[in-house]
Amino acid sequence: MTEFAPSQQLLEFIVDRINVGVFIVNEQLEIQFWNKFMSSNSGVDASQVIGKPLFDCFPDLPQRWFAKKVSSVFMLKNFAFTSWEQRPYLFPFRHNRPVTGGMEFMCQDLTLMPIKNEAGDVENVCIILFDVTDAAIYRSMHQAAMKKLEMVSRVDGLTQLFNRSHWQSRLAEEFSRAGRYSAPLSLIMFDLDHFKSVNDTHGHLGGDAVLVQVAGLIKAALRDTDIAGRYGGEEFGIVLPNTTAEGARVVAERLRNTIQATPVPYDKIQIPVTASLGIAEFSLKVKDAEEFIANADAALYEAKESGRNRVIIYEQMVRENSA
Ligand code: GH3
Ligand code: MG
Ligand code: MG
Repeated sequence: MTEFAPSQQLLEFIVDRINVGVFIVNEQLEIQFWNKFMSSNSGVDASQVIGKPLFDCFPDLPQRWFAKKVSSVFMLKNFAFTSWEQRPYLFPFRHNRPVTGGMEFMCQDLTLMPIKNEAGDVENVCIILFDVTDAAIYRSMHQAAMKKLEMVSRVDGLTQLFNRSHWQSRLAEEFSRAGRYSAPLSLIMFDLDHFKSVNDTHGHLGGDAVLVQVAGLIKAALRDTDIAGRYGGEEFGIVLPNTTAEGARVVAERLRNTIQATPVPYDKIQIPVTASLGIAEFSLKVKDAEEFIANADAALYEAKESGRNRVIIYEQMVRENSA
């Protein structure tokens, strides 16, 4: 059997029909070859560019970067590769995907191949340009979806505050940080007063409207470093890093006042709302984050018992009870 030896004509036929950019430059970066993919995407025909310096024909290319890549192939006599993840494209070619995933131009991976003469010296470099736009769009959409999913898994749908599980893990982080650096840390747990009767009087949707507004008031009342979450139905938790119990009391009183002063407009009426708040302050005596929550909860319970719409600090309550 004789070995198949493709003719020059056949090779050119193939190179012009594959859906890949192929072009060749010499050491002066003058274009020696330019396939159909390159001419149809750039709008510039081989006859217009052969023999001319690449950067004269395409002044907008990342010149320093590309010249360095090509010269490394001449010098090292080895292949080089670039990925769209480092630099999305060499040529700003348009792509025609209906869904762009934010990609304005065709994403390109490049392979740079040394073309050697018989003596083994590199005379030209052949650049193969792969259109990887689909992979890039897929990746970017995947990343966006993952980010959204991560967000959704952290946030409570009704109030847009952190949900219980994410809030608890943030509390646990702050708890161990406070232990390591002996930095102050306070926790506010609070619960809306007589919320059952809000639901009974105004319906569940009225209750939901109250929760949404209270969440908005919480967000407005806090610093960026404070961490607010929906702990249960109408119970909320706020972690206050670098804050003593007295600092937390100022925040809690401000929040209590704002909630009381801001009835919730619903169905042409105003629903009055108050809240009871319990504060606990971190100390090395507190065993873990669960105990920390239990302390704030005990103060919250006391705030309810002693008449509601008030703020109680756990440590102060314990001191007074044992005095
Ligand atoms: P207290 O002052 O002692 O807190 O009285 P309360 O009526 O608020 O009592 P409690 O905190 O036990 O009641 C919680 C109520 O909150 C019960 C439940 O029907 C209601 N609730 C829990 N989650 C939601 C929710 O997502 N939407 C609405 N509308 N109501 C909820
Ligand atoms: Mg309640
Ligand atoms: Mg409750």
